[in-house]
Amino acid sequence: MSAPTKSHGRKAIRPMLKPASLMDEEPDLVGVWQARVVTLFPETFPGVLGASLTGKALKDGKWQLHTHDLRRHGVGKHRNVDDTPTGGGAGMVLRADVVSAALADAQRHARGRWPILYMSPRGRRFDQGMARDLAQCDGVTLLCGRFEGVDERVLERWGVTEVSMGDFVLTGGEIAAQAMLDATVRLLPGVLGNADSAIEESHSNGLLEHPQYTKPAEWEGRGVPEVLMSGNHAKIAQWRLEMSEKLTKDRRPDLWAAHQADRKKP
Ligand code: SAH
Repeated sequence: MSAPTKSHGRKAIRPMLKPASLMDEEPDLVGVWQARVVTLFPETFPGVLGASLTGKALKDGKWQLHTHDLRRHGVGKHRNVDDTPTGGGAGMVLRADVVSAALADAQRHARGRWPILYMSPRGRRFDQGMARDLAQCDGVTLLCGRFEGVDERVLERWGVTEVSMGDFVLTGGEIAAQAMLDATVRLLPGVLGNADSAIEESHSNGLLEHPQYTKPAEWEGRGVPEVLMSGNHAKIAQWRLEMSEKLTKDRRPDLWAAHQADRKKP
């Protein structure tokens, strides 16, 4: 069996062959945003979140990440976590008692505003607004499904909100959880080096971002828009806004309509 509850980042503990009750978990740091992930595959975390800015922030204790292994709560000698769908049909369903025990474990650490989200293609589609809201919470518990999903009763019991990555079906919730955590953690104070980049980028002001350029100034016969070389910051800002608006109008009429409606509000 792998480590029951694994901590990532600062003061991370190594997996040890000790009973779970004796395992010292990384202490909950006061005022630090925390994610608890319930998964059958804890070894997939921190995954991509361990790299770059989110990884550095994790090491620096700007957020905390813990996994709760569903297998640990499995039943019987084989620690079964799933069973066949009641009523018949293909695949397997994660058992309510097993998932609930893992959630209970995670929720022992919950404080303040702390939603429980189930990664699910049936859920509301995740967006920047939800990331912003999550970053304002004290923490979050993310439930990653596998197989055909989880027994419905556990979702009711814990008042779980279903959240989707988009209209497609993944094999499991782990990639979705990492994507949602990435989008959220980068909004926490001090995680992005340049605070402005979170304000100006796509979706934060309801528009898609303008095109970006860097060196060399000429590449394979292609130059960069002249205004960007002008040093005139007002003009550059104006050009970027115009490009943002044009891109949004062309590519995402839905976003553009929402943006227009927003501007008309008093
Ligand atoms: N039978 C389910 C799909 C199960 S896919 C259905 O038809 O709705 C297995 C697991 O992958 C799910 O439990 C969920 O946790 C995850 N998953 C799949 N697609 C996802 C998506 N678009 N967004 C978030 N999680 C997803």
